[in-house]
Amino acid sequence: MAFESLTNRLNKAFRDITGKGKLTEKNMNDMLREVRMSLLEADVNYKVVKDFIDHVKEKALGADVMSSLNPSQMVVKIVHDEIVELLGTSEASINFKSSGITTIMMVGLQGTGKTTASAKIANVLKKKKARKPLLVACDIVRPAAIEQLKTLGNSIDVEVYSEGADVPALTQAKNAMEYAKANGYDTVLFDTAGRLHIDEELMQELADIKEAVQPDDILLTVDAMTGQDIVTVAQSFNEQLAVTGLVLTKLDGDSRGGGILSVRAITNVPVKFVGQGEKVDDLDIFYPDRMADRILG
Ligand code: GDP
Repeated sequence: MAFESLTNRLNKAFRDITGKGKLTEKNMNDMLREVRMSLLEADVNYKVVKDFIDHVKEKALGADVMSSLNPSQMVVKIVHDEIVELLGTSEASINFKSSGITTIMMVGLQGTGKTTASAKIANVLKKKKARKPLLVACDIVRPAAIEQLKTLGNSIDVEVYSEGADVPALTQAKNAMEYAKANGYDTVLFDTAGRLHIDEELMQELADIKEAVQPDDILLTVDAMTGQDIVTVAQSFNEQLAVTGLVLTKLDGDSRGGGILSVRAITNVPVKFVGQGEKVDDLDIFYPDRMADRILG
């Protein structure tokens, strides 16, 4: 699971101070140094770490921790709250249109789990929000993507719209909207093409689809296993497309977790879902508080 070594290290830092009856300034500084090292070792962006430690110090001073009854518990709570702050304080959900068809565009680099996440989200919307979703296979570049989406769609009983790999993605996106209107769908999810790296052509294709379908949400899949790189990738996608939500994928893997801890803080795009496995049910709505609990172990 992601964050495992971060959790262990943070717990050690807290154990070192909870064992002590009274907290001195030195204990507190030692602990903050350990927290700082734990975050850096987990590959959290250095600027995010700096701000994090500054905030914790500020809050600890403001709360007059040293003279409180249980100083160490208080510090642990401050760190917990700051992690929640880092992850985004409120639960973010899909921007459903009040009437008409809600459109969701899935974007991300190849292999980050975009196709899988498209189906997972369609599944959640169908089961938990009683929506009638249509999946649209706009990734005509990766050879297996259309078939993969069809197989996934079949397994969750959600229709997949596709005109095959020879019709341009933009044409299919427009046609899919007509199809959705004619057939009573209320939510359309577009699984767009990815590449191994960001390039002009990809961004132009995505911008054209965006223009055509006017998405209510543009969700970017970010792979936890990629580490710090996901911050730069997310920044690029966000600058060019104005991303409205992040989907953190592969949290079941053994990543250090730093990339995903940094990405919300740096891009200021809320995390909406987390993917924790290859199966179609392995998706959760993102709750910052629960994730902070998990990180603190
Ligand atoms: P795409 O190229 O972005 O559409 O990526 P895919 O959806 O095809 O996913 C790439 C690989 O990652 C596939 O083998 C998926 O089964 C796998 N995958 C996707 N999401 C997760 C996840 O949350 N956890 C794990 N362990 N694997 C995932």
